[in-house]
Amino acid sequence: MYPEMGTALDYDDAWQLLVSTVLSAQTTDDNVNRVAPVLFATWPTPEDLAAAKPEEVEEVVYSTGFYRQKTKSILALAADLVERFAGEVPRDLDEMVTLKGVGRKTASVVLAEVWGDPAIAVDTHVKRVSHRLGLTDNTDPVKIEADLKELYLKETWAGISMRFIQFGRDVCDARKPRCWDCPLRDRCPFEPKTRRPPQER
Ligand code: SF4
Repeated sequence: MYPEMGTALDYDDAWQLLVSTVLSAQTTDDNVNRVAPVLFATWPTPEDLAAAKPEEVEEVVYSTGFYRQKTKSILALAADLVERFAGEVPRDLDEMVTLKGVGRKTASVVLAEVWGDPAIAVDTHVKRVSHRLGLTDNTDPVKIEADLKELYLKETWAGISMRFIQFGRDVCDARKPRCWDCPLRDRCPFEPKTRRPPQER
């Protein structure tokens, strides 16, 4: 279904994707894409952002919601990156997750998207779709990630997360999965499968 698949967030490098991923919490990628060009034009480097006035950054990221917390997070992240990694995002999961505010999911997105490294980010869509398809029995994202890594070839890992997320949005919706329309219907153990609603007949 998704031969070409990548994040809908616009970015030029790992730093920008890292910041945009933090900003994307509880909002749409489109919203972040509207704000990011202004943010990175005003404060292009981690050094610039680390030295920015919080109230000015708040103004720019306001429309992404939770703007105070997000401003705090990206300023702390910028300062941490400058202080410990000379402003360079480390291309290593274990190192990246030591950055302030960066969890395993965010770090995996950056590794997979920017460098195509073998990483699988487990978000709510990946978790749900994996469960419904019977690919895991676990609820802990780290264990789900390990289960998926057992099932898929390493060279495909970088592309898995975004495909699961898009499939979760398009077909295997949290509340209303479109089982009647689903190409995986015959292989999916999830029951009861949903039926086409009358308004779509
Ligand atoms: S058949 Fe239904 S539950 Fe199973 S993957 Fe497809 S949409 Fe999801």
